[in-house]
Amino acid sequence: MAHLRFEALRKLNERGRVPVDLPKPLISQFFAENVFGMEQLRATLAPAIFKKVSSAIKNHEKIDDTTADAVASAAKSWAIAKGASHFTHWFQPMTGGTAEKHDSFFDALSGIEKFKGSELVQQEPDASSFPSGGIRSTFEARGYTAWDPTSPMFLYGKTLCIPTIFVSYTGETLDAKSPLLKALKAVDVSATRVCQLFDKDINHVTASLGPEQEYFVVDKALFMARPDLVMAGKTVFGHAPARGQQMEDHYFGSIPGRVYDFMKEFEIECWKLGIPVRTRHNEVAPSQFEVAPLFEEVNVANDHNQLLMDVMSRVADKHELKVLFHEKPFAGLNGTGKHNNWSLITNTGVNLYAPTSSARDNLLFLTFFVTTIKAVHEHADLLRASIATAANDFRLGANEAPPAIMSVFIGSQMTAVLDELEKKGNVKIEKGDNMYMKLGIDQIPEIILDATDRNRTSPFAFTGNKFEFRAVGGSDNCATAMTALNLIVADQLDKFHEAVTAEIEKGTEKRLAIVNVLRKYIKESKAIRFEGDGYSDEWVKEAAKRGLSNIKNTPRALDAYLSKKSLELFEKHGVLSHKEVEARNEIRLEAYIKRVQIEARVIGDLAMNHIIPTAIVYQNKLIENANGLKGLGVDNKTVVQTIKEISGHIDAIKNGVREMIEERKRVNKMTDTHKRAIAYCEDIKEAYFDKIRDAVDKLELLVDDEDWPLVKYRELLFLR
Ligand code: ADP
Ligand code: MG
Repeated sequence: MAHLRFEALRKLNERGRVPVDLPKPLISQFFAENVFGMEQLRATLAPAIFKKVSSAIKNHEKIDDTTADAVASAAKSWAIAKGASHFTHWFQPMTGGTAEKHDSFFDALSGIEKFKGSELVQQEPDASSFPSGGIRSTFEARGYTAWDPTSPMFLYGKTLCIPTIFVSYTGETLDAKSPLLKALKAVDVSATRVCQLFDKDINHVTASLGPEQEYFVVDKALFMARPDLVMAGKTVFGHAPARGQQMEDHYFGSIPGRVYDFMKEFEIECWKLGIPVRTRHNEVAPSQFEVAPLFEEVNVANDHNQLLMDVMSRVADKHELKVLFHEKPFAGLNGTGKHNNWSLITNTGVNLYAPTSSARDNLLFLTFFVTTIKAVHEHADLLRASIATAANDFRLGANEAPPAIMSVFIGSQMTAVLDELEKKGNVKIEKGDNMYMKLGIDQIPEIILDATDRNRTSPFAFTGNKFEFRAVGGSDNCATAMTALNLIVADQLDKFHEAVTAEIEKGTEKRLAIVNVLRKYIKESKAIRFEGDGYSDEWVKEAAKRGLSNIKNTPRALDAYLSKKSLELFEKHGVLSHKEVEARNEIRLEAYIKRVQIEARVIGDLAMNHIIPTAIVYQNKLIENANGLKGLGVDNKTVVQTIKEISGHIDAIKNGVREMIEERKRVNKMTDTHKRAIAYCEDIKEAYFDKIRDAVDKLELLVDDEDWPLVKYRELLFLR
């Protein structure tokens, strides 16, 4: 086995750089050249048809057959002219990732390339292989994909990709996108209604998302020589390198050449696909990096993030690299997240989370600001559940990632504003439009745009003109978190509107009514606000005192979806039915179990088949040495001591693996998925993973480096 490691290291030494040039001098000359978007529609459709399409897209209306035929025909001509041979419905099943089934444009019967409107609008992939959480077995065995015209088609390789949702024949949604679209609709309606209290010109509110994507990059040969990376996407063993991230020198360091080439190339591919990637930099841990796009409407931003991950994986291959999105690929180093920067923006171009210099507009800002905090307070457990996965469990609360406790950071200036508003809140309405609040609210913009007022330890932070949900996992589909966030904000905005309307009906002046409700919200949601160090032990205690949840693992976190409060929330806004929520939880629990199970198997196999044999070989060498020393009459105490130490670790590993296998046998018999998931978490993962790892990592320090079979952390992480 060790030969694989050294073979990989030899390859690493021979690697050269892969030079990458921009295809054209300016990015603007090729940006979105592989996107069939509004511009292309306008250019290729008859004006009357284009009008129909654009209004249908804007107002989320159904597109009729004739119009769909025209769009399909235009898309086909565009794609074929660019060399496409196939089309596919591109969707996001609950497995994570994306799925596609390619069909050729070529129709052998007629001998020509064809693409009908009906094929654009709806397709039937073989749904039986996608998880449905029991929906299909109980109800309907087949599903279909349906065109989402709000996200543009794009050409990927030789295939025209059509973003779609995935639904069972009985109407239950089986993907990540469908509920997201519904939640976005809900927040549009609710936010618009609240905006109308301020400005009648506002008739649409769009949620936007800028997902900052973190990732690790490792050499492909080294990756292939680590079965745990290949099978589980993470290392299950590995002693911390002598130098980790304690030097804190990676963050602003220069990007290694090979990684730089890789970045340049995947950025080019992204630009062609209309993905507005913008920022690249090193992250805190060695070999960790980040790419951030310019924010876009949530649905498109999320499709782009899904596509980005795919593009990155493919391009990495060309550079003999592997990109890791796993939430915790290396113990002892920072995990990988996907900060979801989020805001609401009106059709009049106002970012509802951007404070302004006018007191009147700031009341609108404060309304959304306070209502969002209130929503997070009300539904913290649901937000926590929305980001729960087996892999993210290793990251949350691991002293360097957002804690599993949901809290909101708003900065000292906004804290002062809310405190003032809560305590005094005496608002004087002057004649006309002039409103004066004894808060110094006019002062907000200058102050909070001060970027030094930042807290990196908060899972949900206000960052000047947007909120940043930082607990989302690096490999996750943002749709689930974004569905929850937009939904809870929509609901709270509805409640806000009701409360204000009730006050107005009692005769309170509108703006006073608004301030009164906001003051109430500030008081009620105070416990969720936290400005201190979210990684500290004090916060764990303090949060408990405040009654905030600290749910450490996925199986328990997911329970929040099934609470009466959550079920009502999903049903009321038509986002997910009771049955759908249950099915989704079942899918996620099953996914959890499988992930832990795979990891347990990888740990067992590696430990028994690679580590122990290696340790024994080395131990035999020591025994020979000890005997030799003894024969010469030389003191062999330290060698004997090492031999004993190795024996101790070998025993610990053997016993651990054997017991863990017995536990799996027992747990696998449990029929209740929820109970089985909890058992996998507590009786397998928590009971054995660290214990076995500890013994293996100790052996790594004892066994001759020449014999050690697994590529070491220092080799994986210090790519140059
Ligand atoms: P940071 O310091 O957190 O990296 P940036 O300004 O670089 O902040 O923004 C990070 C991400 O936030 C980018 O994707 C950016 O486009 C996005 N972003 C900025 N403004 C908004 C907004 N109003 N709504 C949503 N995302 C936004
Ligand atoms: Mg950020």
